[in-house]
Amino acid sequence: MVKNAWRVAEEVHIRINGEPAPKGFIASAVSERPGVEFFYNKEWLTKYNITSTTKRPEVPGHSYFQKVEKFFEMHYERGELYMEFLKKDCLSKVGRSCNACTEWIGPESTKRTPRPFPDTSPPSHHYLPLEKTPTINVDGSTREPDDFQPRAQLRKRFFNKEIKLGDSEEIEAFSKQYIVGVDLIEEYLQHLTNIELRKLKRKQEKEKLKVNEASKSYSDYDWEKLYKTGRLKNLKVCELDKYVQHYKLTTRKLTKAEKLQLLSAHISQRICQKIISNAKATTSQAPFSQSEHDSQSSSSSEESSSDDEVLNVFGGYSREHDSFGDAIMDEDSDEDDFPVGEITVNRYGRKVGSWRSRYTQDE
Ligand SMILES: [Zn+2]
Repeated sequence: MVKNAWRVAEEVHIRINGEPAPKGFIASAVSERPGVEFFYNKEWLTKYNITSTTKRPEVPGHSYFQKVEKFFEMHYERGELYMEFLKKDCLSKVGRSCNACTEWIGPESTKRTPRPFPDTSPPSHHYLPLEKTPTINVDGSTREPDDFQPRAQLRKRFFNKEIKLGDSEEIEAFSKQYIVGVDLIEEYLQHLTNIELRKLKRKQEKEKLKVNEASKSYSDYDWEKLYKTGRLKNLKVCELDKYVQHYKLTTRKLTKAEKLQLLSAHISQRICQKIISNAKATTSQAPFSQSEHDSQSSSSSEESSSDDEVLNVFGGYSREHDSFGDAIMDEDSDEDDFPVGEITVNRYGRKVGSWRSRYTQDE
């Protein structure tokens, strides 16, 4: 569907570009597809916008975004439906002209375009013509953006709790002041009320979740499962702390990333120990030869799931050492990498060794 839309747009562009039109020729262009756009910083701009002011300096490109944002703040007036630039507006805001305004050679406007103002003289339901539209209020103060924009004013009053659904007197007065039908006002108030209700519900659910999280203890989590499925990182710091405190791992102040590393190392160590002690128990109960083991591991589901766990735990190592896979398959391969009966720990704190080490460790 998207592909077709682009294709149609390109065809329309080819057909009409350069064709004669009243007072000249048509100039047509197709915008760049999102994947090949020149402005590649959309991702970072989004990140900048959703990050709190104090943490923004950590976002790549923040200096550039901040400069643009400041320029907008100093020169633009924003309403609900418009955005107007005024050269040298920085002068009135910070008391001096910015570099952009000083260096700009071009036409200058000294004042903003006045926003529509109702004409109360009969016949009513009109706005004053532009030349008669005031830029200041009766008391001499500058007019606020959207001061006669019905929707913006209704929203403002709703959130200030000055008007609500069912408040017929207020609605009637608003309808007369801004010349808008009562039905339209009620419809918009209903919409705003729904938004408020949804917001309230989300807040309540969040609080409930918070209470649940706080009441949970170490034993309410399946730590091994969380580790194996890679969902440890989804936990909050206070939840990770429950594990750290339970095992008294450290009293140092750690970042979330450091805590995750510590937990992963500790959980994997516990899994390794469990496998080793299980293997020890099995070996002492029923010693068997290598050929017996091969036939057993393929027939016993418990044994094969244990093998899976070894591969899972050793996964990090086998990626770094491709020959490790061969060590499992080939009995005659170089045994020096994993001396029999010796468990080594890799740089992540995970225990590494060949499958054989768990059977022969206590020999
Ligand atoms: Zn300026």
